Amino acid sequence: MRFLLVEDDRMIGDSLRAALRMEGHAVDWVRDAEAAASTLASERFDLVLLDLGLPRGSGMDVLKALRARGDATPVIVLTARDGPGDRVAGLDAGADDYLVKPFELDELGARIRAVLRRQAGRAMPLLTHGGVSLDPATRQVMRDGQPVLLSAREYAVLELLMQRPGAVLSRAMIEDRLYGWGEEIESNAVSVYVHQLRRKLGSDFIRNMRGVGYFLAAETAA
Ligand code: CA
Repeated sequence: MRFLLVEDDRMIGDSLRAALRMEGHAVDWVRDAEAAASTLASERFDLVLLDLGLPRGSGMDVLKALRARGDATPVIVLTARDGPGDRVAGLDAGADDYLVKPFELDELGARIRAVLRRQAGRAMPLLTHGGVSLDPATRQVMRDGQPVLLSAREYAVLELLMQRPGAVLSRAMIEDRLYGWGEEIESNAVSVYVHQLRRKLGSDFIRNMRGVGYFLAAETAA
């Protein structure tokens, strides 16, 4: 998943970015409201973590502008303000959830998963395809009932594919979701992750459409 982190506090931003990257997400980080607005106008993200108290504008205005142009990108507001009025205003302005600082990283992780599940319109959090199941809450992957150990990036690639079974994802689309700005992308990284996933999940599980991208093999009747 690709996240935009909008946070002017360097320490909080550093720790959030590190924690989200550990989970295999790509994180782009901007530190003021103007940068947030221009980034959101030009790039697509799976989720925005938005501080409200920002230099050069306010997070609330960023959120209102986003919703005013019909952009439904999920937004979790992170803020030190904890008056009930602020919470209501944030949700009314179109935030999907609201966390008051200081918060536990575990709680943020759970809220992120809940928001992404709602966004995907899935009632059941478990993704299954062709004998493989993936639980975004525990990050556990099973193949035919046996646990499979994946690296964070292998997991991220698999999650992307399993969220859209049948869709062909280009290498560029996968890279875009795996890497944030300024992160060096090894030229064949995606094919290496796919190779590892095939080794662990079966050589036919992920198919390659030459020159187009990767997709999950159709499920066959057992
Ligand atoms: Ca702030």
